[in-house]
Amino acid sequence: MPAAADIPEIRQAVAALCARFPGEYWRALDRERTYPTEFVRALTEAGFLACLIPEEYGGSGLGLAAAAAILEEVQKSGCNGAACHAQMYIMGTLLRHGSAAQKAQWLPQIASGAIRLQAFGVTEPTAGTDTTAIRTTARREGDAYIVNGQKVWTSRVEHSDLMLLLARTTPRAEATKRTEGLSVFLVDLRRARGHGVTIRPIRTMMNHATTEVFFDNLKVPAENLIGEEGKGFRYILDGMNAERILIAAECIGDARWFIAKATDYAKSRVVFGRPIGQNQGVQFPIARAYAASEAAALMVERAAELYERGQSCGKEANMAKLLAADASWAAGDMCIQTHGGFGFAEEYDIERKFRETRLYQVAPISTNLILAYLAEHVLGLPRSY
Ligand SMILES: Cc1cc2nc3c(=O)[nH]c(=O)nc-3n(C[C@H](O)[C@H](O)[C@H](O)COP(=O)(O)OP(=O)(O)OC[C@H]3O[C@@H](n4cnc5c(N)ncnc54)[C@H](O)[C@@H]3O)c2cc1C
Repeated sequence: MPAAADIPEIRQAVAALCARFPGEYWRALDRERTYPTEFVRALTEAGFLACLIPEEYGGSGLGLAAAAAILEEVQKSGCNGAACHAQMYIMGTLLRHGSAAQKAQWLPQIASGAIRLQAFGVTEPTAGTDTTAIRTTARREGDAYIVNGQKVWTSRVEHSDLMLLLARTTPRAEATKRTEGLSVFLVDLRRARGHGVTIRPIRTMMNHATTEVFFDNLKVPAENLIGEEGKGFRYILDGMNAERILIAAECIGDARWFIAKATDYAKSRVVFGRPIGQNQGVQFPIARAYAASEAAALMVERAAELYERGQSCGKEANMAKLLAADASWAAGDMCIQTHGGFGFAEEYDIERKFRETRLYQVAPISTNLILAYLAEHVLGLPRSY
């Protein structure tokens, strides 16, 4: 990893690493739905996943723009950062709200790659997007909390040592507000698996290592509570802008991959005696996808810049995620169309990337909920839910 916060150099280094993991590698994993262990190890060893961890804890202490560039470059190279991207933003909760002792205990190990923190247990089957309605509870008993309940879509938990878990510590009816009474814990999965935690993989349309997780009287030491009891919802919200900006950067990477792939093909594929890209019906959709993704990229840059300056960026982070997810999805559709029948062939990697990028219309926050945020919090329209 380049020592200085030199983003072009970082991009080059990420691209060089990703070149070692070509389409064949991802296709083989996709077929079997297996985890890209070697790829994640290589990114960790190169220090990229620790770029947001301050230097005093062994990371490189770079800003969000560098992290966004790393993830964008991963996607632009045809790889899939979803296998490990969460470590970057989950770690922020520990960094901002953890105690000095917790940070000293965990961050150096995460930075060195000795342990992984890349599982995030928020979503539940009944609550869905209404996070304050979660039913997983953590009850204090002496020097521990006893956790019961269920999470769904907990990704990467089988490949993580730690999980950041959101649970209710005060029943919703007894809390002063519905957003109060939720708490965040660091669960040490190495001890928890088989001792109160059961994990069941969910096979999805793309290779995503996602699962459902069941908690049955799991004992979590009280010292693993992050920040103050009952304030967890605020801590999770605090991390959401970073998460949205990073996911948006990945979508920009995907869009750029689709656009480069379609452009190359449109130049070389000859039908009716001329390259298909000579037809406006083929070149205009590519140009439109390019314009949309470049505009979205500017919003991602703007959001990251505000975030790094410590300024409010909820509006920009949400718009970045919305526009970038739309741009990558539209670029994927355009890329298939440009390739005609070959767009559906596995060996071109387009159908795989198309399946992968579809997720970002739904997770980590669905497009409707972003629109609802903009309508209510930016435009002052009545709350719709
Ligand atoms: C592959 C994958 C990986 C994931 N990884 C994680 C993870 O690691 N950790 C984690 O905690 N979660 C994870 N998630 C969960 C993800 O964040 C949720 O799926 C997402 O937030 C949407 O919630 P939901 O699926 O419960 O949809 P629901 O809340 O049930 O919503 C269903 C649909 O209704 C719409 N909708 C709901 N309410 C409204 C409203 N008021 N106005 C307008 N539209 C509305 C939504 O936009 C959505 O399209 C993952 C999901 C997937 C699919």
